[in-house]
Amino acid sequence: MTAVKVECVKGNIAAQPDIDVIVNAANAELLPGSGVAGAIHGAAGPGLAEECRTLAPISPGEAVISSAHNLPNGHVIHCLGPVYGVDEPSDRLLADCFRNALRLADQRDLSSIAFPAISTGVFGYPLRDAAAVAMKTVADTLADLNSVRLVRFVLFSDQDLSIFDEALKLEPDLS
Ligand code: ADP
Repeated sequence: MTAVKVECVKGNIAAQPDIDVIVNAANAELLPGSGVAGAIHGAAGPGLAEECRTLAPISPGEAVISSAHNLPNGHVIHCLGPVYGVDEPSDRLLADCFRNALRLADQRDLSSIAFPAISTGVFGYPLRDAAAVAMKTVADTLADLNSVRLVRFVLFSDQDLSIFDEALKLEPDLS
């Protein structure tokens, strides 16, 4: 197990140039859509949607990897989060997203990964609960990671950032 730094920042997931792989809060068909997916596809250009057609559809909890096209990163990992109150058990499916994305990044020998707050927008997952699942899953997955050294959560507002920072502080195994 290597030392892994976990941090929370306020910003746009599509503007993280120092990160190897960014994570998309995707829809099942991996289409552009709104929110995170809109920002990522908008910055990546139409080549991403074209590549995604060969990878879709995906199921809740699943993660697939593509190249990053015009984004400043090397890759994009696309995760389908659970729709809160519909895809059950939602906490396990959300944890699957984080764990599968971390493992996929590690399998590709990548050292840094940035996540948005998957499922907390259109999919309705309460932010505080999602933050706790995210931090617990990172803590539980650390032992499996060899190449990943930096895990960044990118939040869209000051309030969302403070909730994720709080959840990070409550996980004793994370720095
Ligand atoms: P989901 O469909 O999984 O709920 P959304 O894209 O609707 O995904 O939203 C997920 C979270 O990402 C929400 O908290 C939303 O405020 C936030 N968000 C939206 N756009 C961005 C962006 N460009 N960068 C980072 N976070 C974003």
